[in-house]
Amino acid sequence: MSSTNSHLEGAEFWTGKTAGLAEPSTPASLAKSAEKSNKNNRAVIDAIPYFQDWREAAHRIKTFAIANLDKSLVEFERNITARGATVLFAKDSAEANRYVLEIAKENGVKSLVKSKTMVSEETALNHVLEDAGIRAVETDLGEYIVQLAHQRPMHIVTPAIHMSAADVGRLFAEELAEPFTEEHTALTAIARKHLRDEYLQAGMGISGCNFAVADSGTVVVVENEGNAGLSTATPPVHVVLVGIEKFVPRMADLPLFLNLLARSGTGQKLTTYTHFIHGPVEGKKLYVIILDNGRTNILKDPATWQSLHCIRCGACLNACPVYRRAGGWAYGWVYPGPIGSIITPHLIGFEKAGKLPFASSLCGACGEVCPVKIDIPHQLVHLRHRAVNEPSPMNSFTERLTWKTWAWFMSGPLRYRLAMFGVRLGVRLAKFLPWHPGKLGGWTRGRELPQVPGPAFRSWWKNRSNP
Ligand code: SF4
Repeated sequence: MSSTNSHLEGAEFWTGKTAGLAEPSTPASLAKSAEKSNKNNRAVIDAIPYFQDWREAAHRIKTFAIANLDKSLVEFERNITARGATVLFAKDSAEANRYVLEIAKENGVKSLVKSKTMVSEETALNHVLEDAGIRAVETDLGEYIVQLAHQRPMHIVTPAIHMSAADVGRLFAEELAEPFTEEHTALTAIARKHLRDEYLQAGMGISGCNFAVADSGTVVVVENEGNAGLSTATPPVHVVLVGIEKFVPRMADLPLFLNLLARSGTGQKLTTYTHFIHGPVEGKKLYVIILDNGRTNILKDPATWQSLHCIRCGACLNACPVYRRAGGWAYGWVYPGPIGSIITPHLIGFEKAGKLPFASSLCGACGEVCPVKIDIPHQLVHLRHRAVNEPSPMNSFTERLTWKTWAWFMSGPLRYRLAMFGVRLGVRLAKFLPWHPGKLGGWTRGRELPQVPGPAFRSWWKNRSNP
């Protein structure tokens, strides 16, 4: 089993190839589900009068954690290795994947189970495992569904947010030879039945990590389905993949973050399960792979380093009007939505992802909901500035020519009138063309051309009757 995500090379925002809009049924269900999640989260949050104080405290703790990352990493390593775990530091995806393969080979692993880890999406681990002949099965229900459908996750918290229960029923009938049902409990029972054997047969379990606590050397994993517990505790070997941004200094900081993550992520007071992994279970092995993979590039930019505060709750995705319309695939890589538009250019480069900071209306909704108070809108504006000044698709000859032409037309009343006349005429004529060229063609594949509104403002102003 593999996810198509692993073959993705870079962000391709606004291309028909990756755009969620290319899927006819996706936009409506996605917009509805994201809006519902946003509303639920807001209701839980609004019930807490001191929520803004929590956000402020979390922001400060994360600022301290990132500023003292060098010390936290060493402290975490010392504490967890003292209890028998092995800690490995990976500078990039290739190194992280090599570690996983070496551990798998050393332990004779033929199949493994994974509980949700965005880092493994980032390193395209499933693809690498498949090439090595190792079967990797996603066990988080949403991830399991998208893996069966050979799709990529649509959302960082709810990967199958774009699929209805009927879609899942049809998928299970086709891929698992189960009778069709769209009843939620029955669908969950089918997934449970098929996954149960996978846990028992797996030679290794791979998990992500929601928080790594430095002063106790603890890996904290939160979940609602029990699959992370089974994936991490059943196989003889457990590998944790964790990005350097997941570290918090003290165990005493954790309750605040657990409260914020559950409320902002799924609208719960707390997730159903919170696993504290302090070291390997007797007779088993535990490896923790700590990954940089471009995160230190974020640290180098003083205007955006606070994006490393992100606890991956997904609230900014649900609040974003662009994400709700375009969907996660449109962002072309692992992390979609407003936060993805900040971290992706740093992780894979502006050459590939320089368009992403422009995928925002800058309405500010993302910044308002972020539980760790990341100033997302201002960071996006800063990255737009970088994208037009550094090698990126937004600094191409065509792009520069387009904006120079626009500036020329906008800088004189006669030129402006000429441009508006051309636009009105163009939109009227375009309706009669059998196809539309270039980017206009891409845009009109999923949308209607707008109607030209009544008289232009200038002629209305000229002809208005005097009061
Ligand atoms: S940026 Fe904030 S709102 Fe968005 S996923 Fe990260 S923590 Fe959540």
